Amino acid sequence: MFGGISTKRTCSGCGVTYFWNQDLEWDPFAVALPECFDEYKKLLVYQDNRFGVLPLRRLVVDAYAAQHPPCLEIQIFLGINRDLRAESVQNMPIYLLSLFLAFEKNMEHERIPLEVQNVKLNIIRRKTEFLDLKKPTMKYELCMYDLWDIVKDTRLSREEYTYLMLRFAEKTWDSWYEYHAFIKKVYLTHKN
Ligand SMILES: [Zn+2]
Repeated sequence: MFGGISTKRTCSGCGVTYFWNQDLEWDPFAVALPECFDEYKKLLVYQDNRFGVLPLRRLVVDAYAAQHPPCLEIQIFLGINRDLRAESVQNMPIYLLSLFLAFEKNMEHERIPLEVQNVKLNIIRRKTEFLDLKKPTMKYELCMYDLWDIVKDTRLSREEYTYLMLRFAEKTWDSWYEYHAFIKKVYLTHKN
């Protein structure tokens, strides 16, 4: 994605290729391409304006984050400092935990943020450090590009919108199948 003259570049997280827009900024961890991150921000604004704060908001945020694990090479290239780089690695199991609770434990969406917070505090308290998770080899069925493409042009009902976001989150969780057992272990180890 770096070097050479190109009008397109590919998001290292979701793998979608975008037209380069130099006016856009990177997210603080530099895990998503600015063009991808821009669509994510637009989607959340649209969602909040249209439906208010949905119970599945956190799930959308975490599924998006789960599709964007850090890429050290890009982070170093962009001058992301060591603390932020470490934080981005440490956050990945936390995002996946949210998806685990939704799709394996069938936890109500309203409860998930609090449960995730509880586990996160125990992880911090015990000074548990995670290794970098290898991103899935399986392609994501739905990415932010697909979601925004549908949402911006179609006036979906609340039910249709919810269905689409749940599918996005669940398929993202499925793609991470190699870490399902690991995330379950993280949960059981740190829930109390
Ligand atoms: Zn992306």
